Amino acid sequence: MTALQNDTPASSEDLTDDPTAAIKALALRVGGDVVGVAPVDRWDEFVPEGYRPRDILPGAKSVVVVGSRGPTMGAWRCPDARLMEINGYDFGNDRAIHIVANHIETQTGHYAMQAPTLPVAGHQPLMSMMLAAVLAGLGTRSFAANIILNPKYGLLYYSAAITTAQLAPDEMLEQMVCPAPMCVATYRNIGKTPCMAACPADEGGCLDGSIDEDGRIEEVYYDRERCSTRAMNFGINSLQKALIEIIDEQDAERRKTMINSDFFTRSCTSMGHFKESVAQCFECMRVCPIGRAERKLK
Ligand code: SF4
Ligand code: SF4
Repeated sequence: MTALQNDTPASSEDLTDDPTAAIKALALRVGGDVVGVAPVDRWDEFVPEGYRPRDILPGAKSVVVVGSRGPTMGAWRCPDARLMEINGYDFGNDRAIHIVANHIETQTGHYAMQAPTLPVAGHQPLMSMMLAAVLAGLGTRSFAANIILNPKYGLLYYSAAITTAQLAPDEMLEQMVCPAPMCVATYRNIGKTPCMAACPADEGGCLDGSIDEDGRIEEVYYDRERCSTRAMNFGINSLQKALIEIIDEQDAERRKTMINSDFFTRSCTSMGHFKESVAQCFECMRVCPIGRAERKLK
């Protein structure tokens, strides 16, 4: 039995009579870097009926959102960018949110469930963790592929738990995290922010946009289709694509070569190690100043 056991009796922090504070303290102890709470009503403005937290868990009142840094600080420094995708992730946010959901049920007697981030049919996940992070006051959308940037850590990976417990909500961020002041200065100078310069839409990349006179995002352009062909080469889709070609291949020798190829092998491992299928490109985030200080170690 370890401190991370999901039915661990309450520690001294949990014994406070503030369930929200106890849940947050637990989330940070078990792998979260940030945690926030949003009341379910906040989804009404952005999400159609049928996809709101209370449609997923009847009687839901709150959503707890946990964000964790994926790649370690060392992984960000590795000169071979390809290693980020295989060494970077541990999905601490998923583990933490599962422990949080169990804690809510065992310690408060309210229902809790991990928010569904994968589709049960079709291609759309039932809930957007990006939106959940914004509504829980953990970050705002950025120029870089619409990634939600946390003011302290920058890029984070998010999971959420929906619960019938009425928890104390956090305010949403008033100040946009992106663009950072240095990005505004760069934009005034060269017409691009660092992320746009790393992946410029007008030179075959995916990002563009403009900043208004007050230094705020005015317009965002993100070519998601182009990005996905670079950042998500290996995963369910590449496996399906490769399988069709392999099945259609009449030449037995060539079929064997295709099965043993790097492409098919990596498509298979990305399914086995799901972490590999998340992304294979980080270049817009590598140049982003938000959170950089937190990645500095000796
Ligand atoms: S992830 Fe890569 S391809 Fe996608 S926007 Fe960022 S730099 Fe461009
Ligand atoms: S580099 Fe980061 S902070 Fe700067 S504009 Fe791009 S996403 Fe925003």
